[in-house]
Amino acid sequence: MPTLSPRIQNIVTGADDGWGVQEKAREMILAGRDGIIMLTMGDHDFPTDKAIRDACADALAAGRTTYGSIHGIVPLRDQIAKRASPVHGIEVDPDHIVVSMGGQAALFAASMACIDPGDEAIVIEPYYATYEQTIRAAGGIPITIRTSADRGFQPNPEDLRAAITPRTRMILCNTPNNPSGAVYTRETLQGIATLCIEHDLWLISDEVYHSQVYEAEHISPASLPGMRERTFIVDSMSKSHAMTGWRSGWIICPDAQAANVIIDLFLTSAYGLAPFIQLAMRAALAGGKGPEHEIAQKYRFRRDRAVESLARSKRLKIHPPEAAMYVLMDLRAFAPDAERFAYALLEETGVAVMPGDSFGASAAGHIRISLTAPEEKLVEACTRLATFADTWSDT
Ligand code: PLP
Repeated sequence: MPTLSPRIQNIVTGADDGWGVQEKAREMILAGRDGIIMLTMGDHDFPTDKAIRDACADALAAGRTTYGSIHGIVPLRDQIAKRASPVHGIEVDPDHIVVSMGGQAALFAASMACIDPGDEAIVIEPYYATYEQTIRAAGGIPITIRTSADRGFQPNPEDLRAAITPRTRMILCNTPNNPSGAVYTRETLQGIATLCIEHDLWLISDEVYHSQVYEAEHISPASLPGMRERTFIVDSMSKSHAMTGWRSGWIICPDAQAANVIIDLFLTSAYGLAPFIQLAMRAALAGGKGPEHEIAQKYRFRRDRAVESLARSKRLKIHPPEAAMYVLMDLRAFAPDAERFAYALLEETGVAVMPGDSFGASAAGHIRISLTAPEEKLVEACTRLATFADTWSDT
């Protein structure tokens, strides 16, 4: 028999890739267990705004069901380019934008554009769970550097410098950050930018949470001197517009040549987003900031309620997020095996959370909750979690 390529077999390492608790919770729901509250995935508990759904329905009714532009239709790219200046602090030529099947395909395409097999890519912990796999899928070797709660999860550029070798080709950076909720400061980003310039590295800047910033200022590293020409910005409407299922993202490329190679990659894979999706995305962006602002306000309110409820625990060490839709908490003082804690929490209380290990080794001993349940349910889940933590015995 022919064998599957090692390239594809080695993308995902590790047993359940961190999603085991969620799988278990789903099985429990199917088996009829009541009262399960899922706070695992970063997926909204409410649908996309009606005006956006209507725009999609109108496009379908008008028969816009053919192949879509692989590059992205011009009116959509024009809308994306228009918001680049307020969001990322840079002027963007619409031709340098390529629409993608969500931020995930944008991450993959940008990684493919930057690295050759065997190249090293630096990833900053804690990170979004697919980062290492995406780099491996592109043939690269992920090199992780740690951050800590004491420094507010801001990476120390000196740690990055120490990880650079002659094989390093890129740094992957995510601010606002999932799972920590940290927003990287100008000083942090300047440190990263200096390294990229000194060592002639690419930067992939994942900014999908830019609309959900509560206590800080979102700065795109692409706006720093000398960075525009070496930065790929990954963006998506999944989080900002509650459009996870639509797979609606894009890459802002450094120049036309980079955009063209990514178009070539999509020619051989997704072959463009459906026109009715692209038209709905365009309508959403043309409709102004209202819906994304409303969503951000909702998560800000939920964050405050969740942190307040969790703070009743004498044991949980909470890291109140400055941004995004998650709360990361440290259990190391009383439950160093966070995965075991998460399974027991699910079994005993019905609350499903993500064990931190899936976000890199520096999040081991932590758990992350998503703020993706209506307020009342979220407070109920946080109360169950706080009570469980205070009575947990790690024996
Ligand atoms: N980047 C980060 C940091 C994320 O948290 C996610 C999803 O949770 C993505 C990218 C991918 O988003 P999508 O592919 O839904 O646009």
